[in-house]
Amino acid sequence: MKDVYTLEELRRWPEVMADEHPPARLAVIGDPVAHSASPPMHNAALEACGMEARYTRLHIRPEELAETFALLPRHGFIGVNCTIPHKAAALALVHRADEHARRIGVANTILVEGEELAGFSTDGPGLVRAVRAEFGVDLRDLRILVLGAGGGAGRAIATQCAMEGCERLVLVNRTREKAQALAAELAPMFRAARVSGPGERLQVAAWEDAALREQLAHTDLVINCTAVGMQRGDSSPISAALLQPHLLVYDTIYTSSRTKLMLAADDAGARSANGLSMLLYQGALAFEIWFDRAAPIEAMRAALLSHAGSASR
Ligand code: NAP
Repeated sequence: MKDVYTLEELRRWPEVMADEHPPARLAVIGDPVAHSASPPMHNAALEACGMEARYTRLHIRPEELAETFALLPRHGFIGVNCTIPHKAAALALVHRADEHARRIGVANTILVEGEELAGFSTDGPGLVRAVRAEFGVDLRDLRILVLGAGGGAGRAIATQCAMEGCERLVLVNRTREKAQALAAELAPMFRAARVSGPGERLQVAAWEDAALREQLAHTDLVINCTAVGMQRGDSSPISAALLQPHLLVYDTIYTSSRTKLMLAADDAGARSANGLSMLLYQGALAFEIWFDRAAPIEAMRAALLSHAGSASR
């Protein structure tokens, strides 16, 4: 099986898959898509469960997405994942969507139901499971600060924190207006009375040391949703001097096993985890949507770790 297929090949799918046993009936759709870690993770899951299907990559440009979606039921696809830049357009193309997808305006998981498509967002629910697995705590019990609350991942995660009814939510983004716009959307979800300590339950804070230091004193969990730390030369998005030993630090970045933010957390004596667990659990949730059964987590984790190891060599 090839690593990546195109729309032109999808149009001739029965012929393209003629010699593949089992054929690809699941895929991640993106532009670019060659880097995606989803195929090794999902193929390990399909194999572990003895499913007659493989998972591949489809390199699809934005103007090709509608035709791609129309071809999925015709060619026997079970479903697909959508990644950059297709998550918002995917939601607009499905026939129905779950609450989380509708609230954040994107879908990353598509289920083929007969001739129709259903859209889901598993990033936020994946983070809930990841935080529970990494730190043994639930988002609903925490005071949370989201760094990068204006980006796609930040919006999904902040919305999930609000839907979980977290104790307190502080939104921080380099472009502050985006965090303010998100806060306005989430405000109705914070009207219920809860114990929260000093300050409002939902706040936007400036990306400045003094403001961050003040907020972090009343925070349990910091979630980095910025892209800062993805490149080798990047520094930590916030310095060790701002972090405190009581904090849990979750970095959604998974390109390194010890990100710069995690090293800063180490220096501050705080516990931390990288985004591999979020990637794992959003994938496990997608598998559950497609097959209506529990995902083989350990097989998926082993495949992801092996892929991350080979990608960093
Ligand atoms: P995105 O929509 O492009 O958002 C990028 C975010 O990073 C924005 O908030 C942006 O702030 C901020 N940012 C970029 N450069 C910055 C800088 N120099 N200083 C401060 N802030 C900066 O990207 P995305 O899809 O949300 O992805 C963001 C991160 O989430 C990536 O690191 C990705 O690896 C991670 N992620 C992880 C998972 C997982 O499963 N673990 C899933 C999805 C995403 P502005 O608004 O000011 O530009």
